[in-house]
Amino acid sequence: MQLNENIRKLEQNYLFAEIGLRVKHFREAHPDAEILSLGINDVTRPLAPAVCDAMAAAAREMREAARFHGYGDVQGEPFLRQMIADYYRSFHVSIGAEDVFVSDGAKSDLANLCDLFAPDSTVLLPNPVYPVFYDTSVMAGRRVCFARGTKENGFLPMPDESIRTDLIYLCSPNNPTGAVYSRAQLRQWVEYARAQNACIIYDAAYEAYIRSAALPRSIFEIAGAETCAIEINSLSKMAGFTGVRCSWVIVPRTLTQEGQSLHRLWMRRQSTKYNGTSYIVQRGAAAALSAEGQRQVRQDVQYYMENADIIRGALHRSGVFTTGGEHAPYVWMECPYHMDSWKCFGLLLSHYGIVTSPGAGFGAQGEGWLRFSSFGSRDTIRRAAHKLAAMDWDQLALWAADSLHADAPS
Ligand code: PLP
Repeated sequence: MQLNENIRKLEQNYLFAEIGLRVKHFREAHPDAEILSLGINDVTRPLAPAVCDAMAAAAREMREAARFHGYGDVQGEPFLRQMIADYYRSFHVSIGAEDVFVSDGAKSDLANLCDLFAPDSTVLLPNPVYPVFYDTSVMAGRRVCFARGTKENGFLPMPDESIRTDLIYLCSPNNPTGAVYSRAQLRQWVEYARAQNACIIYDAAYEAYIRSAALPRSIFEIAGAETCAIEINSLSKMAGFTGVRCSWVIVPRTLTQEGQSLHRLWMRRQSTKYNGTSYIVQRGAAAALSAEGQRQVRQDVQYYMENADIIRGALHRSGVFTTGGEHAPYVWMECPYHMDSWKCFGLLLSHYGIVTSPGAGFGAQGEGWLRFSSFGSRDTIRRAAHKLAAMDWDQLALWAADSLHADAPS
């Protein structure tokens, strides 16, 4: 037996598993401590009534022989693909229902798309980066280059003509930094991709959190993207589907390489390795995209964004620098006194019971930063904000220095 040696190149634990482990150890050592989780990616609001009603009705259909659904259309039921195309039309993007592939989550889509490209492809990733972009590229044996996000460029790295790449991953609004590309910036990425003959994989999982019409909600708002980009979106964060599972991939029929249609290849791949998304789930997804469903799920998005406002306000009162959190459910904080991010994470956990995500877990450019998630309940967010607003960062820095000395080898 020979193992895939690329898997062994990964860190031992996926970032969020590592955070979970550290919180578990803290909880075991301090069973009475209050823990306020602002570290997780998961939503906390229940599903919208329109979604639950539609899934319940779909489940009842399954009881009747005449309305039972077995294997469905591997690409997604036409009724849902049409609703997705209509959803894009609502913000003036024209895509065909035929270009949409429905599936069971953006994470699996990101991993599965690796099948389309040669194993020795070069991949350009933003850094900080959503770990799945990096891990799936490493597992597939790709050569990885980075476009560096910094405080100076607002964590919106731009193309570097000196880098030759085959694949470009972009995430906007960004996890973890909350940064959002403008149309002018995306135009530069599209021009670069076309000049390089590269494909952009555009992760729009947080598109619903954009609060300004001046910002693009899809890469397909940019002319030319239909010849060089694939877009992924998911109902996980738009409609609380993290446990239900439904996403989509747009592979335009105009996207070709070496005379081959990527749309046709993706269809070929899906029909071999996927058997379609659950009918009940697709009915729930269609309900989420309906007018009434949108009215309901947008209330939850607004709730999370109000949480982000509360977190940002509290951090500003404590005197630290933050970015993000305006069009994304993540607030990105610079650790004061050049503290390293796992150290800052540990201090906030041990002294205040607040769980965050250390920036270093998102790549070298995340070192010195922390991510705060706004997906908690309002009560959790308010309690954490109360502590954060009164945070004594000087004291924390002293504790950090003390523990550094304690950690130092004698
Ligand atoms: N893409 C980004 C940028 C994410 O942050 C996440 C989840 O946190 C995903 C994709 C995965 O979403 P899904 O639940 O659809 O698999």
